[in-house]
Order: sequence, then C-alpha cells, then structure tokens
Amino acid sequence: MMRLPKFEYRAPRTIAEAVKIIADAGPEGQFVAGGTDLYPNMKRRQQTPRTVISVMRLPELNQVTGDGSQGLVIGSSMTLTDICEHPIIKRDYPVIASAARTISTPILRNMGTIGGNLLLDTRCNYYDQNYEWRKGINFCLKKDGDVCWVAPGSSKCWAVQSSDLVPVMVAIGAKFRLVSTLGERVVDAAGFYNDDGIDYLKKRHDELLVDIHLPATNGWRASYQKLRRRGAFDFPVLGVAAYVRYQSTVRGALAHGRATAPSGGDSCVRTGRSSDRIIADAKIILGGIAPSPIEVNEAAQALIGQPLNEDQIQAAAEAAYVKARPLDNTDFVMNWRKQMARQYTIRALKELVAK
Ligand SMILES: Cc1cc2nc3c(=O)[nH]c(=O)nc-3n(C[C@H](O)[C@H](O)[C@H](O)COP(=O)(O)OP(=O)(O)OC[C@H]3O[C@@H](n4cnc5c(N)ncnc54)[C@H](O)[C@@H]3O)c2cc1C
Ligand code: SF4
Repeated sequence: MMRLPKFEYRAPRTIAEAVKIIADAGPEGQFVAGGTDLYPNMKRRQQTPRTVISVMRLPELNQVTGDGSQGLVIGSSMTLTDICEHPIIKRDYPVIASAARTISTPILRNMGTIGGNLLLDTRCNYYDQNYEWRKGINFCLKKDGDVCWVAPGSSKCWAVQSSDLVPVMVAIGAKFRLVSTLGERVVDAAGFYNDDGIDYLKKRHDELLVDIHLPATNGWRASYQKLRRRGAFDFPVLGVAAYVRYQSTVRGALAHGRATAPSGGDSCVRTGRSSDRIIADAKIILGGIAPSPIEVNEAAQALIGQPLNEDQIQAAAEAAYVKARPLDNTDFVMNWRKQMARQYTIRALKELVAK
C-alpha cells in the first residue's frame, strides 16, 4: 500500500490567510482542493510538499455568480459534480457541464474541483508510476532523473496536458483570476499553459486560482469530444474542443423569409439553420496529446467566412489531423490517436451543426 509522506495540513478561512501561509512556506508549500491529483502524486513521491494548504474553506472559491447574458464567474473550489449539476451552467454553458461529466467517476467528481482540474499535473506512462517502478528505470527528466524515456534525445519533457476542461476553456476564451501576497492578475486560459511537461503552467507556485471567468454567450456555440479506452474513469488521450461564433446575418435566410433581422450587437439570428449561418470566428483546440493544449489555426481558417457545411468540416478535420502529433506516452498507439484527431474534430463540429 502506498502511504502519504508526512506533512502539515492547514485550512485557512480567508484568501489573505491562504496566500500568506503559502508565501511563508516557500517552495515547500502547496495548495490542495479535492486532492484527487495531488494526493496520489504525493503517494508516488512525485510531489512532496511539507505544508499542504486546503482551499476548500474559502467562501469566494465556492460560489457561482452571473449568467450567460453577462458572463459567469465560477469559484475554483466548486466540485465537478457542482459544475455538472448547476442549473445556470447546464442552461447557458452546456459544453462545460458535459465536458465535466466525462471526467473520471462520480465519486472522484464529488471530490475533484474545477480549479484542480485546470491546474492538473501533466501525465506520462513513465511518470504516473509508483516510486519503486520509477526507480527501476532510473527515473526520468520530469522527476529525479536525467533522461526522457519517450524521446531520449530530447532535453524537454513531453508529459501530456490531460484535463478535459482545459481545451474547452481555451476554446471559449475563459480567463483565470490569480491572487498572491503580491496582488492579483487575470490571465487568458489561452496563454496559461506552457509547451513543457515540467514547467507546464504560467503560474507562480504561490498564486491562488480564485475563480474562472466565462465570456457572455452572445452568438457562440462550443462542443467537446473525448477519446479514452473506457467510457468512464479514464483520462483523455485526445480531446477536441470546437468553438464557432456566427455573424449576425444569415446568407440567403432573410431573402427566403426564414429569419428575422438581428436585433443588433453580436447576436446571431437563431432562427437560421447552422448550415446557413456564416461563421465569424472559430477555434479548434486539441487536448490530451501534448504538454499544452494545441490551437489549430488552419482549421479556424477553413471555417471562418463560411457556413458550417460538410466541406468546411472535412477541411477543418484535415487540418487537425496534420497538426496532431501525439507521442507514445499514453494509452493507445500514437498513429491511431493522430488519425482520431480527424474523426473527433468531425464529431465536435457536427455536434455544433445539430445545435
Ligand atoms: C482515477 C482518476 C481518474 C481521473 N480521470 C480524469 C479525467 O478523465 N479527466 C480529467 O480531466 N481529470 C481526471 N482526473 C484528475 C482529477 O481527478 C481531476 O482533474 C480533478 O478535477 C482534480 O481536482 P482536485 O480538486 O482533486 O485537484 P487537487 O488534487 O486538489 O489539485 C491539483 C493541482 O492543483 C493545485 N490547486 C488546486 N486548487 C488550487 C487553487 N485554487 N489555486 C492554486 N492551486 C490549486 C494543487 O496544488 C495541485 O497542484 C482523474 C483522477 C483520478 C485519480
Ligand atoms: S515525457 Fe519523458 S521526461 Fe516527461 S514524464 Fe515522460 S518520460 Fe519523463
């Protein structure tokens, strides 16, 4: 049986207290939320903080405010079950609720939080093993060793960003609010993840993720498709988030009397069919295949200025296939995972046609 190493446990009640404790603890301090990622890592001696600071009793981190018309703010300690079941998230941001529902199992979703999911450690078959196993291969670059077993000539770690919510947050343009004793900053999800399996976040270790800011839902749609071996429990070994925002006019629709004129602003003509509406902006984000989420700009270019029809979907899927370069460090053969990038992009975009 794997045991946790000894550590001091703190449970502050205010943000000011929490950031003071971690600042005082220095590199030996670490925040914990549900602990579903951190505690297994500690048992495997991948992370061994001396001071573990719970974020679960901080009221600001346990609330949801706003809605789709003004934008939503989600506290980082909301559990994944809360996210799946929250009426406003289900109604206005169904892609967040459905992506959260694909994460691990109901019991882990009761413990695991949205914040912990967005800050998840990167994963690799050579790293997510117990201490003795890792010692048996003389460890690896990511922890205690000096070689990468996936790419032995590489000076970089290729461990994989394996969160289901990260590609969705990047696709929809979410922002994260971070607080430390030095102050507060708000960062784009899109620039937050480094293409480096060891230094995978643009976040200082003393910064507390307080909340996640979702943009208002004016005219955009998003979907998420996840590849894994089992229909529950397993991490994604490929995740595709698709996002489209439509122009406020519909090609041919007004002429054919199918739609009413837009009331203004950015809103789309909701009575038009997806296949008639012209895409003003699009994003395809691939997760689960690299140290950071991958934005496929060529897929976006294939979609923007066009209706979401079969030809555009095929072109975007081809671009995703070309850009996807999974390595041999998770489940499934890497060439097959690459091919699945095409299929899962088609599925994600077809889901948007149906919306
Ligand atoms: C069997 C199993 C299956 C899983 N399957 C999936 C899956 O399919 N998809 C998936 O995405 N994940 C999966 N996970 C990973 C994990 O359960 C979830 O990602 C979960 O949401 C992590 O949240 P947590 O609150 O437990 O994080 P913790 O373990 O508490 O924290 C994770 C990291 O975030 C940091 N942290 C947490 N909160 C804050 C904060 N507010 N500010 C600063 N730092 C913070 C911690 O220091 C730690 O580094 C799985 C885990 C297990 C054990
Ligand atoms: S990618 Fe290489 S360095 Fe990184 S965890 Fe895997 S084996 Fe270790």
